[in-house]
Amino acid sequence: MTRPHVLIAGAGIAGPSLAWWLTRRGWRVTVIERARALRTGGQAVDFRGPVHRAVLERMGLWEAIHERRTRLGTQSFVDATGRTLAELPALMMSGDVEIQRGDLCQLLHERTREQAEYRFGDSATALHETPEGVEVEFEHHAPQRFDLVVGADGLRSNVRSRVFGEVKGHMKHHGFRVVGCTLPNVLGLRQRGVIYSEPGRGVCITSARADDEARALFVFSGAPLGLQERSPAVAREAVSAAFAGAGWRTARLLESLREAEDLYFDAVSSVRLPRYSHGRVVLLGDAAWGGTLGGQGTPMAMVGAYVLAGELLTHPGAHTRAFARFEARLRPYAMKCQAGASHVGGFFAPRTRASLFLRNHLYRLLATKPLERVFEKLVTRAATGFVLPEY
Ligand SMILES: Cc1cc2nc3c(=O)[nH]c(=O)nc-3n(C[C@H](O)[C@H](O)[C@H](O)COP(=O)(O)OP(=O)(O)OC[C@H]3O[C@@H](n4cnc5c(N)ncnc54)[C@H](O)[C@@H]3O)c2cc1C
Repeated sequence: MTRPHVLIAGAGIAGPSLAWWLTRRGWRVTVIERARALRTGGQAVDFRGPVHRAVLERMGLWEAIHERRTRLGTQSFVDATGRTLAELPALMMSGDVEIQRGDLCQLLHERTREQAEYRFGDSATALHETPEGVEVEFEHHAPQRFDLVVGADGLRSNVRSRVFGEVKGHMKHHGFRVVGCTLPNVLGLRQRGVIYSEPGRGVCITSARADDEARALFVFSGAPLGLQERSPAVAREAVSAAFAGAGWRTARLLESLREAEDLYFDAVSSVRLPRYSHGRVVLLGDAAWGGTLGGQGTPMAMVGAYVLAGELLTHPGAHTRAFARFEARLRPYAMKCQAGASHVGGFFAPRTRASLFLRNHLYRLLATKPLERVFEKLVTRAATGFVLPEY
């Protein structure tokens, strides 16, 4: 049998993870990435519980991730005077191990770039399925035929819209917007984080690896966003308007936001799809089940890559069966984890004074010694609710 040739769109986390599994079993993999270079932006992402750990261990990444871990400790809710209202244990916000998204992306690329062909600065412009494969047209490369195509191209997947159409209902909006960026460490944080919230708006600042840097997340209620509305300039304006007059050290943070370069701006939403595949094309990671924030997108992308590769390798030449089994196994787990994305806005920015009070009170209680185990269960329940298949 000739080696199957797979096109993966997206060199984020899901794409290179799948490339790792397939290339080591001799498959030909081409990864196209729209950006001209690896996109190494983003905040920290975490792994929790035995399912995540098993996948990382099977990929030989457990130690490498630990070497690069953020070592973030507790995070606290504070009031306008800076007084701590509740302390959140490291496990809640940072899992068993946490790494900067960009470090992980780089690590996965390093471990696959010799075996897979990476093409940066390109994107698919058309996909035509034939009985023999998928004919793909590109922005810059000559058309080419692949046996299978995997859309691992993120929340606003190009492959998804080409195959399933641009359907509004594919993205469910949760009523909030988020801006993430790196700021100077004006609060002098060391391996810890602080969350300040007022009704409908909240800011979370955590220390970064470099002592003079901090990572900021501004979460605020707002409508969905169009593609053109997500530029850094619009993000700065939106945050300034949403946080005008806010208390605590917010004014100082807004001032430093003016200089921030790596602004990430999006609506808090999640992808809802009736199917993950169509013919020879399948979606993986955020493209299939993503959520902007709080949906365990990164570990889910890696667990998903493990299952998809496992099914493809177990059913060579039978992609329909492999895709169906992949979806049947993964969908319930992905839905459970994705549910976190619908609560995350209300966690950082409860809408009313009453819900803000309740949140603080609840977490103060949960963080006490007698409820420690309950808390641990709550923050790992979704992540551990899956039996990893053996392939
Ligand atoms: C720059 C960036 C920063 C992020 N920051 C955070 C964060 O702080 N916290 C968090 O929880 N999650 C963050 N995410 C999302 C997180 O990476 C995912 O939820 C998760 O890791 C699943 O990964 P994925 O590979 O499915 O998607 P992603 O990591 O989003 O990767 C998708 C890749 O596809 C590429 N792509 C998009 N369109 C095309 C196209 N037409 N053709 C080819 N390639 C295309 C993108 O450039 C990207 O490299 C970020 C994603 C990116 C791209």
